[in-house]
Amino acid sequence: MENHPPVLGIVVPCYNEQEVIASSIEALSELLFRFTEQELVDNKSFIGIVDDRSKDATWKLISEISEKNPRIRAIRLAANRGHQFALLAGLLEFRKDADCLVSIDADLQDDAVVIGQMVEKFRQGNDIVFGVRNKRATDTFFKRTTAYIFYRFLKILGINVLHNHADFRLTSRRVNEELEHFSEVNLFLRGIFPLMGFNTSIVHYARSERTAGTTKYPLKKMISLALDGITSFSTVPLRIITVLGFLVFIVCILLMGYAFWAYLSGRTIAGWFSTVLPFYFLGGIQILCIGIIGEYLGKIYKEVKRRPRFIVDERIGDIR
Ligand code: UDP
Ligand code: MG
Repeated sequence: MENHPPVLGIVVPCYNEQEVIASSIEALSELLFRFTEQELVDNKSFIGIVDDRSKDATWKLISEISEKNPRIRAIRLAANRGHQFALLAGLLEFRKDADCLVSIDADLQDDAVVIGQMVEKFRQGNDIVFGVRNKRATDTFFKRTTAYIFYRFLKILGINVLHNHADFRLTSRRVNEELEHFSEVNLFLRGIFPLMGFNTSIVHYARSERTAGTTKYPLKKMISLALDGITSFSTVPLRIITVLGFLVFIVCILLMGYAFWAYLSGRTIAGWFSTVLPFYFLGGIQILCIGIIGEYLGKIYKEVKRRPRFIVDERIGDIR
């Protein structure tokens, strides 16, 4: 087992990627071919594509290419479910047929060549190998800074994620089997894998620019992923509310003492501003706190419904 080259599956989620999908598949196929020649991977290795219900010609292109390319397997989701679910669908779908799976974005912004190093680390006994970006020079200043602040914030909240690791990683069959037991609907894969444990390792690479097409992660989705990341892994925000409430209570007691003293010593109470300001202040904090609780409540609501996280509509190249 140790020396036999593993079967590798490269999982590629894609949504409206008609501009890049053909060239990405070609690049990955060449890579697989090379790895097979080098006896790094078994020749049953494959590319497992997940079409996240693209609206453009992506699925058509995938079906056409797969007719000529036996290394391609693909599933099409019944609806657009977003990056995390598409990835999950791919990992769960293809896990049985591969000794290890590598997930990579369709735009190949992550350097696919280092998949070779990932497989080597896997063969040395690591169950998870994280791809970590060396520099983010190609991301915009805005994306870099917001990402940095986000990672710092997660750290403060005690959430264990790797800085500059996106969803480019290798996972062993064991890990992919365990993934099934993480049945949460609020999915933040980046937080789950470090949580699992196992022997892990890191591979560094430089992230390049998107060659074609546009980002499918506009600000709105970034914020939503960030909020999910926090609230799915930490209840510290709820604790902060408790502490905040306690502090406000203490301040109130002190103020009452002051008011009583002012009454006894016959001083007039200060004017309108000092009366009204605390109302707004406390009102604001209360609404904020209710909002935070609401975030968690919303999550619980989603979790208890236990709806399927994705539904597979079509399959190509199914070997089962
Ligand atoms: N993606 C997806 N479903 C979506 C949005 C994106 O499967 O609803 C895929 C997309 O095709 C790509 C990956 O997720 O392979 C990452 O998206 P993108 O490259 O646009 O994000 P960025 O690199 O800009 O953060
Ligand atoms: Mg990208």
